Amino acid sequence: MEKPHLLILAPLAEFLMLELTNHYHCHFGRTADELEEALTNAGDQISGVVGNGGSVVTDALLARLPAAKIVAINGVGYDGVDVRACAERGVRVTNTPDVLTDDVADIAVALVLMTSRQLIIANRDLHSGNWAAGTNRLTHKASGKRAGIVGLGRIGKAIARRLAAFDMQIGYFGRHRQDVEHRYFDDLTELAVWCDFLIVACPGGPQTFHLITSEVLAALGTTGTLINVARGPVVDEQALIVALETGGIRGAGLDVFENEPHVPEALLKRSDVALLPHVGSATSETRGAMAQLVLDNLEAHFQNRPLLTAVV
Ligand code: NAP
Repeated sequence: MEKPHLLILAPLAEFLMLELTNHYHCHFGRTADELEEALTNAGDQISGVVGNGGSVVTDALLARLPAAKIVAINGVGYDGVDVRACAERGVRVTNTPDVLTDDVADIAVALVLMTSRQLIIANRDLHSGNWAAGTNRLTHKASGKRAGIVGLGRIGKAIARRLAAFDMQIGYFGRHRQDVEHRYFDDLTELAVWCDFLIVACPGGPQTFHLITSEVLAALGTTGTLINVARGPVVDEQALIVALETGGIRGAGLDVFENEPHVPEALLKRSDVALLPHVGSATSETRGAMAQLVLDNLEAHFQNRPLLTAVV
């Protein structure tokens, strides 16, 4: 049987690319020029699309890929994929849930500790020979505080489990109350008023665009810290900068940004923020498991077996 043709929309891990090129004809659409060339040369032959959490799959793209019947996303978030258009065209969509949950939750906890205990500044002090500055600076306790989780899903629950071990009280906001022991807030602003750390762990996309507004940040207040491990656009980044510059909130820990890889200079120069280059799932173990899930979903699809982790 001839190898199926795939369109690769994003830079992928070496291990995954190696396996993909072994089993499929790969065409690349990682830049606008590459994509146009791939669509012109092989649009009719391409029977599957592979992307990552930032990949954009529109109805217009699918229209140029009449044979494509699967979109396999190497990530749990698929906010760039027009899922409705996929469903209408009979295109299946898969993602990689669960296997990355622990790593992303670990990073959220790390950001809580990095911000509250100002670990980056302490580390810089020590490296620059300024031991005394580090020792004399008093920071803020994390244990025993209140964590407000926006989106108590797989990752949100894993964050809650970890922070409960820090004797934190847990509250959460989402569209639905869940059968959990944590306190539910049907109003995001009320959760922000209640908590010390507002931790964003919901999906991105139009429904959550700028969910964290200047009003929510004002409610979080001068002793509050914002943590975002979800998607950059969930937070109004300009409002966050204003809140930090005016002392409206205490600090922020961010793994994601509105226009990655761009990080505003106004954030880069601040010492009350901990900034990471979207490393939530970036361990070799987890990226390996994600890659395997992408490969297994593709194999199942092309062998007409049930998909392992289908979104639609
Ligand atoms: P999940 O299990 O589907 O959980 C999502 C949670 O968000 C649910 O509890 C849901 O509860 C809530 N939610 C959905 N829409 C909402 C809305 N409009 N407003 C408020 N809450 C909403 O997903 P997950 O596996 O935990 O992943 C969550 C997100 O983490 C992903 O979508 C991705 O964007 C992000 N992520 C980031 C990284 C990273 O590297 N930083 C890595 C992986 C994932 P309700 O249904 O009750 O609203």
